[in-house]
Amino acid sequence: MRLLIMGPPGAGKGTQAVHIAQRLGIPHISTGDLFRANLTEGTALGLEAKKYMDAGEYVPDSVTNGMVRDRLKQSDAAVGFILDGYPRTVVQVAEFDGMLAGNKLDKVIVLTADIDEVVGRLLNRAKQQGRADDTEDVIRRRLEIYTEQTAPLIALYADRGVLVEVNGIGSVDQVTSNIFAALNV
Ligand code: AMP
Repeated sequence: MRLLIMGPPGAGKGTQAVHIAQRLGIPHISTGDLFRANLTEGTALGLEAKKYMDAGEYVPDSVTNGMVRDRLKQSDAAVGFILDGYPRTVVQVAEFDGMLAGNKLDKVIVLTADIDEVVGRLLNRAKQQGRADDTEDVIRRRLEIYTEQTAPLIALYADRGVLVEVNGIGSVDQVTSNIFAALNV
């Protein structure tokens, strides 16, 4: 299974991706997690990414695409994957199509959630996890960029016939079972 999970920041992509990965025995590949791991390790890539992440901006493609390309070459991704947070722009889709080298995505899951709900969730996460990019200003900026640059991917993948929309509001378990039902697994 080759899957993507999309949705606005705070829709619960990461949490749901972990459950899906476990159920299907595929790796969960999150670009946000990869950037944060690089930052923890103090790599040059991590330090570069931090400048953008802290401001709620997208990390440049020159950094992001190569990181994903390398990750997808690792042997665990041969059975499939659930990508979380990539591709996020139309340009990244074109790059990603190249990485897939003719392999098709099985499904693109979009978690839907209204803006007030996700802002509330992110502010809550800020209190619990202390992420530097979970302040109110940065949250608003991330939502703006999502709407401008990432939301158009929904129509793009709908045109390709692989889109599955799932309501992201509800308990974690409820949303997980809605996703499994939609994926038919
Ligand atoms: P996330 O954990 O998915 O919310 O990502 C956290 C931050 O990492 C984002 O706000 C961006 O700054 C950066 N990021 C993650 N994925 C991408 C991507 N595909 N392209 C550019 N920046 C990204």
